Amino acid sequence: MGLLLKIILFGVAVYAVWKTFSRWKGLFDRFVGKPEEPARPAPPPPPPPSEPLAARKVAIQETIQCAGCGAYNPAGAEKCGQCGRPQPRPN
Ligand SMILES: [Zn+2]
Repeated sequence: MGLLLKIILFGVAVYAVWKTFSRWKGLFDRFVGKPEEPARPAPPPPPPPSEPLAARKVAIQETIQCAGCGAYNPAGAEKCGQCGRPQPRPN
């Protein structure tokens, strides 16, 4: 009975080793020749394009500073939203 038990345990051990090997085989294939090197974390994604900055720049370009109170108003505004002073037209 002991021999049968040993055979069964051996089979289970081989099965476990094979499953583990199959699981990590993909990772080993990535690092052929350097199996001991830990997997590097994925490089951080490149910073997103400076869209907010560009949007802000456009917003600044399309605003006109009020000559009376210094508040920034849209270029198309007819009068200042802060003090009501008429704004000069872009053209
Ligand atoms: Zn104003």
